[in-house]
Amino acid sequence: MEISQRAQNISASPTLAIDAKAKQMIADGKKVINFGAGEPDFDTPEHIKKAAVEALKEGATKYTPVAGIPSLKKAIIEKFSMDNGLDYESDQIVVSCGAKHSLYNAFMILCQQGDEVLLPAPYWVSYLEQIKLAGATPVAIKTREENGFKVTPEELQQAITSKTRLIILNSPGNPTGAVYTRDELSALAEVLVKNNVYIISDEIYEKLVYDGQEHISIAALDTQVKDCTVVINGMSKSYSMTGWRIGYTAAPHNVARSMANLQSHSTSNPTSIAQAGARAAITGSQAPLENMLEQFAERRKYMVESLKSMPGISCNIPGGAFYVFPNIKDLIGKSFNDKTIQNASDFASLALDEIQVAMVPGIAFGENECFRLSYATSMNSIEEGLNRLRRLLDKLQ
Ligand code: PMP
Ligand code: GLU
Repeated sequence: MEISQRAQNISASPTLAIDAKAKQMIADGKKVINFGAGEPDFDTPEHIKKAAVEALKEGATKYTPVAGIPSLKKAIIEKFSMDNGLDYESDQIVVSCGAKHSLYNAFMILCQQGDEVLLPAPYWVSYLEQIKLAGATPVAIKTREENGFKVTPEELQQAITSKTRLIILNSPGNPTGAVYTRDELSALAEVLVKNNVYIISDEIYEKLVYDGQEHISIAALDTQVKDCTVVINGMSKSYSMTGWRIGYTAAPHNVARSMANLQSHSTSNPTSIAQAGARAAITGSQAPLENMLEQFAERRKYMVESLKSMPGISCNIPGGAFYVFPNIKDLIGKSFNDKTIQNASDFASLALDEIQVAMVPGIAFGENECFRLSYATSMNSIEEGLNRLRRLLDKLQ
């Protein structure tokens, strides 16, 4: 059978593929250290599981309203108000099957053929493909490591054309961990509003920020910005609920209505039981999140210090999320067993083949000098993985 041109233009998610490969190698008995995974290694907190089990017992096993059950939407509205200083009404909230699905709905209803979508690079893998699926053209804006991988107003202004429809912002960011300050967001918002560019703000890592930094939602800057912003968030990262598939959107009324219409013809509602779990996650105890955050902070510190002391590796300290994004440009031209490193992809292949350390090469995020390590894995694994990496680096010629 012949598949559509649309499908031919799309490649599989490299982050999921690397994680799957590492897990398969582990299942085959190989002692792989998996730094590929973009999911917390903690179990979903008990009170969330309990809420889902209770919902199941009480018969919450039928279709729900397409955009989510009222009590979950209410919890989300309260969260926006308390955490972000943003006020929304119930019909501005759409609950979907993971933030990935929320993003997909947003791109599908906001862009069309001929539109350009700005994408600060390094970017998370699925943005690129979802923009293409929506028929629009992704336009990457290369950010600089010395700017903490954050796009500047000047770089933004330069990338805007008459075709620019929207920008996708992701703070805290995957893969770089970059966290934008209020002033930085204000400066970007000024350029965006002036040029009539819409914003999709992916805030899925909002709870995972370190060193006393604050997560700011760009939509909260003022009403003008809010009116042209679609905020995306979800349960996967903050509450270790990757498998539950609950994400959500807050948007202007017409955007939310269109996203719900689209969803009504694709997935209908997100899973009823998972919605009950999500409600418990948002309204219940945040102690498990605080504990997870403490452990992430400790691992991040250890990882960055250790990487910085390795020959040929430089590493920014990420402000948020659970990834580090070190640079290997000083290793280019070095080799091991006749394998020469030309870029970060070669380095990642070498690490997997020679020392069984799985990482995601930067090319997956539009940057080929860096690689991504996730510290959503135990401290023991981190120590072992980094020791292996150091030994490999010592053997490079
Ligand atoms: N945005 C970013 C930046 C991510 O890293 C992820 C991780 N998968 C998602 C969105 C989607 O998360 P999920 O679909 O699990 O809610
Ligand atoms: N967002 C995670 C990552 O970047 C999970 C995998 C995915 O959905 O792409 O690894």
